[in-house]
Amino acid sequence: MSWFQRLREGLTRTRQVLAPATQQAEPAPVDQPRPLRRSLEELELALVAADVGTSATAEIMSSLERSHQPLQEALKEALMEQLEPDRMRASLRKLGFKPQVARTLVEPKGQVMMVVGVNGVGKTTTIAKLAHYYQQAGRRVLLAACDTFRAAAREQLALWAGRAEADMVSGEPGADPAALAFDAVQAARSRGRDLVIIDTAGRLHTKFNLMEEMKKVQRVIAKAQAGEPKEVWLVLDATTGQNGLAQARAFHEALQLTGVVVTKLDGTAKGGIVVSIVRELKLPIKFIGVGEGLEDLRPFDAAEFVEALLG
Ligand code: GDP
Repeated sequence: MSWFQRLREGLTRTRQVLAPATQQAEPAPVDQPRPLRRSLEELELALVAADVGTSATAEIMSSLERSHQPLQEALKEALMEQLEPDRMRASLRKLGFKPQVARTLVEPKGQVMMVVGVNGVGKTTTIAKLAHYYQQAGRRVLLAACDTFRAAAREQLALWAGRAEADMVSGEPGADPAALAFDAVQAARSRGRDLVIIDTAGRLHTKFNLMEEMKKVQRVIAKAQAGEPKEVWLVLDATTGQNGLAQARAFHEALQLTGVVVTKLDGTAKGGIVVSIVRELKLPIKFIGVGEGLEDLRPFDAAEFVEALLG
């Protein structure tokens, strides 16, 4: 199955929420605004139900009311505007420019990437998939198992590191995660590895402790290598909906995230969370996950996502 088919299948539940409201509507007459028909009201409810968020939904609705295109096409365009406020790219696409996502590498800035997120969101498996992705792209990856709070995390990461053929640095349970991150950055330098992916704890005794520890890891990485980590990515479970957005806000405030990876889009009807993240947090979505396999995590492309969702 191609990635697009997987993505389309993964987004089935969200599509089922949106599709009924888009398919019956007629285009509006050219000389009149689109009247507020039942289907538009249904669509508004569907967008909110899919977790697109109230402010994005309001903007989408007002552009749909002005549009003379069939509703489904107008919705695609409105979603693109939300997901890619950079109009240049959107208008290039309208002229038929289609990026080859699978062949475009999502270049991480710098050499150290810190990955954060609460337990259970799919952080460990996402890190493994990222390691696999970058190894395949010719990067030499070193994983740092800095979740020393959770005993099983190191073993799980080691297993995945083996599969992805990446190097790994780990410490004893309870070891200082920041010291370990420091060692990992140095080890990468001496072993000639060009990308360090740092796994971090997803739960501590309190949320305050967790954020303080994350900040410390971030500071210590900067001591090991000036200017790093240039990437701090949050892994977010799409099934947690608006609650996930609140998590994202807390991590963003503490760490100034540079990107988000959204997992488990296949398990939810709330795939619109992707729009909320871009719109509310102004953060780019780097990768999305639609399954448990190594190949089920891919770079995010707005046009492809919208097409898979509504096409
Ligand atoms: P962590 O606690 O955040 O490190 O979470 P794990 O990486 O251990 O993953 C928790 C569960 O989520 C595992 O069973 C993963 O296979 C599953 N998982 C991760 N990503 C996805 C995804 O995109 N879709 C689905 N359906 N499951 C996923």
